[in-house]
Amino acid sequence: EKNSPSNFIRNIVVEDLKTGKRDQIITRFPPEPNGYLHIGHAKSIVLNFELADEFKGKTNLRFDDTNPLKEDTEYVEAIKEDVKWLGFEWDGLFFASDYFEEMYNRAIILIKKGLAYVDDLSAEEIRQTRGTLTEPGKESPYRNRSIDENLDLFERMRKGEFKDGEKVLRAKIDMASPNLNLRDPVLYRISHATHHNTGDKWCIYPMYDYAHPIEDAIEGVTHSLCTLEFEDHRPLYDWVVRETEMEHQPQQIEFARLNLTNTVMSKRKLKLLVDEKIVDGWDDPRMPTISGLRRRGYTSESIRNFVREIGVAKANSKVDAQMLEHFVREDLKLKAPRTMGVLRPLKVVITNYPEDQVEMLEAENNPENPEMGNRQIPFSREIYIEQDDFMENPPNKYYRLFPGNEVRLKHAYFIKCNDVIKDQNGNVIELHCTYDPETKSGTGFTGRKVKGTIHWVDAKHAVSAEFRLYEPLILEEDQEEGTTFLDHINANSLEVVHGFVEPNMKEAKVQDKFQFFRHGYFNVDPRYTTNENLVFNRIVSLKSSFKL
Ligand code: ATP
Ligand code: MG
Ligand code: MG
Repeated sequence: EKNSPSNFIRNIVVEDLKTGKRDQIITRFPPEPNGYLHIGHAKSIVLNFELADEFKGKTNLRFDDTNPLKEDTEYVEAIKEDVKWLGFEWDGLFFASDYFEEMYNRAIILIKKGLAYVDDLSAEEIRQTRGTLTEPGKESPYRNRSIDENLDLFERMRKGEFKDGEKVLRAKIDMASPNLNLRDPVLYRISHATHHNTGDKWCIYPMYDYAHPIEDAIEGVTHSLCTLEFEDHRPLYDWVVRETEMEHQPQQIEFARLNLTNTVMSKRKLKLLVDEKIVDGWDDPRMPTISGLRRRGYTSESIRNFVREIGVAKANSKVDAQMLEHFVREDLKLKAPRTMGVLRPLKVVITNYPEDQVEMLEAENNPENPEMGNRQIPFSREIYIEQDDFMENPPNKYYRLFPGNEVRLKHAYFIKCNDVIKDQNGNVIELHCTYDPETKSGTGFTGRKVKGTIHWVDAKHAVSAEFRLYEPLILEEDQEEGTTFLDHINANSLEVVHGFVEPNMKEAKVQDKFQFFRHGYFNVDPRYTTNENLVFNRIVSLKSSFKL
């Protein structure tokens, strides 16, 4: 069994087991079901599951569903699918909303201890009286209500006697605390909304800072891992666990969230891209969602390896998105069969090849992985090559096809360009070439050398295909003042071209992955592919300047 990568959180776990502070490790992954998971969540998933795994502990999948307005069962199902696809199995599957009754009872404990009160101030007034880092907050005029009045009002809040925003339950801690989170934070708000799990049973909902520590404590979570923004909330987390008299004391530990260049990483922003129809759904191949990466063609293994490599630290930083691409190339290198596809076709007639002849040529499926065997590809008088593998007036050092030049067709023969056929507008529509039978691939021909090798497909047998080529969706993240990420959408993030692939591609199934010679790695798109229309998403091109 392999160890999870060493990091400061793993060190804490090791220490806690050694000293006997804990005899078992329980972690949780606690998404709010208000959107689909993204690559940032993958970091949290891998961290939580692998840490518990290594020490024979447990990891729960817990939906942190305390906000009825934004949550939906569609998201619950999508999140479950994504966690499984990433390769993890949860121990318990829980919903924070299943703990509402217990949370309510614990709030009563706080009220009875004089540690919580019902406040009539509006959200705006509460914000305004909170003070600043240099100035203490102002106590609410309702702060000193009697315990009995608070118990009565809180119960009536639950019964639905008040409108949204009319009252809240606040913790009574310290309006002068240097930590703003401790200045009587709101614990409950009123929201007459239907909840995806509890329906209309509740009209008061707990706030994150109150709910989360109780959820962790109920489940016996030992190490509650969250992102750095919550560091200042930790004293409140501990306060809630202590004062609500939870038997179990979980420990909150913060780590840096994953940020990627040219990528927005927040469900709220990603939802905007979906709602504004800038993408074709949460799983659009340009999205940094797990479902988008999957549809693009990323493997779960490549995502796990990427996340392991970036590691866990205590300081925020931004990771180059090319690093993620590096990991999928590495993963597919030995797994994906090589094949030839022409994205922008140009017809070539081989004038000295017999009209009705077809021969089958042998081609290796992956020179780096001979176990993948060989395939047979047809060759005949008419083929397609790539438009930009021909130039009528080439610059220096252009070694591909031009009038009078000879190139190697991958797996086939040398061909030489003799005539260029154009339409009325002067566009090149066809080339007439001759081939040299002596130069057949695999025969060991050494008579002469050519500098260029190009790919092709046989015109008569080719299968037509659509190729979807991607660039980053976001050019710059909101850097200039007064702009948002929506002002930096790359208008050219998707290019669709139509070409041809080898005939054996008729067998390709959705989510199959290939390396198209010279073009990169592609995935058969699960949304648009039909029996008549084969659609490929380019996962990544072959080369990158990125070095690990
Ligand atoms: P978002 O802003 O995208 O909605 P979130 O933190 O609100 O993110 P949650 O559903 O609450 O989303 O997150 C579930 C878990 O995933 C949390 O523990 C959170 O800390 C973690 N997480 C979310 N985004 C990242 C990220 N970019 N890097 C690492 N962990 C993340
Ligand atoms: Mg959250
Ligand atoms: Mg969020």
